[in-house]
Amino acid sequence: MSDIWFLTGSQLLYGEQTLRQVAEQSKQVVAMLEEGATIPARIVWQPVLTDSDAIRRACLAATADEDCIGVITWMHTFSPAKAWIAGLQALGKPLLHLHTQANRSLPWHSIDMDFMNLNQAAHGDREFAYLATRIGLRRATVAGHATDGRVHRRIADWARAAAGWQAAHRLRMARFGDIMRGVADTEGDKVEAQLRLGASIDAVPLAELVAAVDAASGTAIDGAVAEYEKDYEVAPALRAGGLRHESLRYAAAIEVGLRRLLEAGGYTAFTTNFEDLAGLRQLPGIAVQRLMSDGYGFGAEGDWKSALLLRVLKVMADGLPGGTSFMEDYTYHFGPGEPKILGAHMLEICPSIADGTPRCEIHPLTIGNREDPVRLVFDAAPGPGLVAGMVDMGDRLRLVANTVELVPPDEPLPRLPVARAVWQPAPDFATATEAWLSAGGPHHTVLSTAVGADSLADLAQLADIELVHIDATTTAAGIAQALRWNAAHYRMRGH
Ligand code: MN
Repeated sequence: MSDIWFLTGSQLLYGEQTLRQVAEQSKQVVAMLEEGATIPARIVWQPVLTDSDAIRRACLAATADEDCIGVITWMHTFSPAKAWIAGLQALGKPLLHLHTQANRSLPWHSIDMDFMNLNQAAHGDREFAYLATRIGLRRATVAGHATDGRVHRRIADWARAAAGWQAAHRLRMARFGDIMRGVADTEGDKVEAQLRLGASIDAVPLAELVAAVDAASGTAIDGAVAEYEKDYEVAPALRAGGLRHESLRYAAAIEVGLRRLLEAGGYTAFTTNFEDLAGLRQLPGIAVQRLMSDGYGFGAEGDWKSALLLRVLKVMADGLPGGTSFMEDYTYHFGPGEPKILGAHMLEICPSIADGTPRCEIHPLTIGNREDPVRLVFDAAPGPGLVAGMVDMGDRLRLVANTVELVPPDEPLPRLPVARAVWQPAPDFATATEAWLSAGGPHHTVLSTAVGADSLADLAQLADIELVHIDATTTAAGIAQALRWNAAHYRMRGH
């Protein structure tokens, strides 16, 4: 579990006695936050800060600490904000400004000036926020008592975004093959992605993957096959003694080789391209599906932006119910009934979103010119979720997201040999898809039934990425205006 540092601001004006009370009360606030148990990180209390040097040292230490994913600040008393200038300018970690007080209720009958001077976040936090705003510091601001469920939820959302931000900065991606020929929305500026998100996106020769697959040992393949039989309903033809068992063993060799190569290189995300498979006999199907399930980011057809986003959302989703997968908007149902989107891919959908036990099957793939690939087939579990995709606008990255409701297919899909998800986009099909297209949203996305929209918004703010979120409140006019305002904002701000 990662750490979040809790920094409390005060000053020397009130004397030792008061500072002891400040320390005591800020420890109580930390304890109240920890009691909520929803925040997916340890909150580490730090000694109360009363002067510029100590603040700067604390901010530098937080920035340098490998386990620290972010910093929460709270100005318990009136903490002169000039003391925070050097520290905040040096802070290189996500910041959440918590606006709270140790006490929930005012002691109406006993309140005196000592109480007023001790419980003065209303002053200190305003001054701090002015300074942070003037510096132009991106931050989350959360107001309320530390026992309040909403405060816990907001800090938890932000902590997940901070964990995603850290994962992005530690991300190395292996790109096997380039972007599928002629496709535009999967292209982008990898240097910009590294500037905003810290992710290193590197080409790896396919020959290395082919060699790793060919080097997979019989024992390792036996182990993978045993796992398939344990985790999935494996088609009889693919089982030991079945006519297609050799195909299953080759699919397992792909998983063994790919996993070894990713582990050896410290990669946490990867892309493939079905047009560029060199000596691979099958397009990687079940291997990609299982690696996604283990938390790897993945994008098909060279789509490194989706691979990056998937890895980050996988980390943000850690420990939450639901699943997160690479996805593609594939085809539509206009009616009867509510319009729906059928999402799928040629093979590569993550079983973390599956409803029930996936089936392990083999079918021909009409494109790609290779042997029949082994894949997991399932329907996605119904429930609320979101889809999000990233595009490169030339001068910035834009994240387009849509709140959706996953629903069961209207009827079984007996002839569809791939994993799939069916959903209804909010606020309705026409408004959502018109808004998506107006925003230039991509055809590949990440679908998550685990990560919430608030967390995604925190991530966009942390990474300074534009977010266009289509939800139940969206109107065509509102989106058109948001896009115009955003264009002006990013143009004027420059880099
Ligand atoms: Mn695709």
